[in-house]
Amino acid sequence: MSGNRAAVIGAGLGGLAAAVRLRARGYDVTVHEALDQAGGRARVFRRDGFTFDAGPTVITAPYLLDELFALVGRDARDYFELVPVDPFYRILFHDGGSFDFVGDEDRLIAQIAAISPRDVDGYRTLARKARAIFDVGYTKLADQPFDRFSTMLGAVPSMIKLESYRSVYGLVARHIRDERLRQVFTFEPLLVGGNPFRTSSIYLLIHWLERRWGVYFARGGTGAIVQALTTLLAELDVEVKLNAPVERIGVTRGAVTSIESSDGTRSAADVVVANADPSVVYRDLIDERDDPEEAGAAQAVVAAEPQQNRALPLLRDPRRLRQHPAHEHANDDPDGSAALGRVPEACGERHDEREKRDDVGASRGANVD
Ligand SMILES: Cc1cc2nc3c(=O)[nH]c(=O)nc-3n(C[C@H](O)[C@H](O)[C@H](O)COP(=O)(O)OP(=O)(O)OC[C@H]3O[C@@H](n4cnc5c(N)ncnc54)[C@H](O)[C@@H]3O)c2cc1C
Repeated sequence: MSGNRAAVIGAGLGGLAAAVRLRARGYDVTVHEALDQAGGRARVFRRDGFTFDAGPTVITAPYLLDELFALVGRDARDYFELVPVDPFYRILFHDGGSFDFVGDEDRLIAQIAAISPRDVDGYRTLARKARAIFDVGYTKLADQPFDRFSTMLGAVPSMIKLESYRSVYGLVARHIRDERLRQVFTFEPLLVGGNPFRTSSIYLLIHWLERRWGVYFARGGTGAIVQALTTLLAELDVEVKLNAPVERIGVTRGAVTSIESSDGTRSAADVVVANADPSVVYRDLIDERDDPEEAGAAQAVVAAEPQQNRALPLLRDPRRLRQHPAHEHANDDPDGSAALGRVPEACGERHDEREKRDDVGASRGANVD
């Protein structure tokens, strides 16, 4: 589709997912990756005949992956296999005891009762709070672009109500008294390099996310998912250029016009999704001198999550880079709001519909996608 060129910067999980979504919308997409392999933090390294995942291994919310493949009429199961794990984690205590972290509430409660009966009710309250945090932090906010101060302000009242000013440990400790159980329910921030004593309690949403959809690993490692996505993109005629660092994003009157590679090649782009770390994008890739009046204020580039955030929300919605007005006709999205991002309808079902379906699924049994 001419006049509909999209450049994706970065072939991490977020960039690859964005490329699939763009292609599903009919864009001509090219992915530019600085390194010699795709995957970003989910890349692999090989040693002594073994392949190691460099980063993520814990896969949650597998429906997000399914959704990507379904968008282009494929079945993810034809490309890679996710295997549910049970327990999700086994926590070993210094005293020799252990706790199996699972999705099934009865099994959780039985273990809590064996360690500290007085904490059973506290856990039930904590789980309800984790669910409430999930309902806001994941269901409502995870795919919202926080690129405007007003958007952030809008989220503040619910954040205060959910006690997100407390740390994960602070909130857990209000409901659980046994120190071992406090460890059990506060370790999840460690997965993203967070300190449970400082990370906002909003991270408790992961507790509910895992209970709701389970925890999986990809057979062959997370690298198998990266491989599946690159295979899919090849089938969709999307080129993933490796060893191709982007040095600059051209901006004119607040809209992107091009990207420039390190070899000096300049490629016109009507849409750019920059999925490198946001600070790098804003600091290094956009030169305000290009566009002194607007570049600084433009909703110029929306990159992905900070480096420690979990991968899967990124699979969901790349956020929108304002299009050049000359090309706004090129998409059939009247307000432009779905140019790159928020496309649940395009995925065949809206989030609230998926919620209903998942409730049905949840009643059938835990950890079943
Ligand atoms: C050790 C570790 C363990 C983790 N474990 C989990 C886990 O178990 N479960 C989970 O869900 N998440 C986990 N995460 C988080 C997860 O890995 C990340 O959230 C996710 O991989 C980020 O994907 P991304 O595509 O947004 O960014 P990245 O993976 O960082 O990809 C960005 C890409 O952009 C490229 N790039 C940057 N600048 C340029 C440029 N100028 N030009 C071209 N390319 C550029 C980079 O080379 C990179 O490939 C873990 C992270 C780490 C580090």
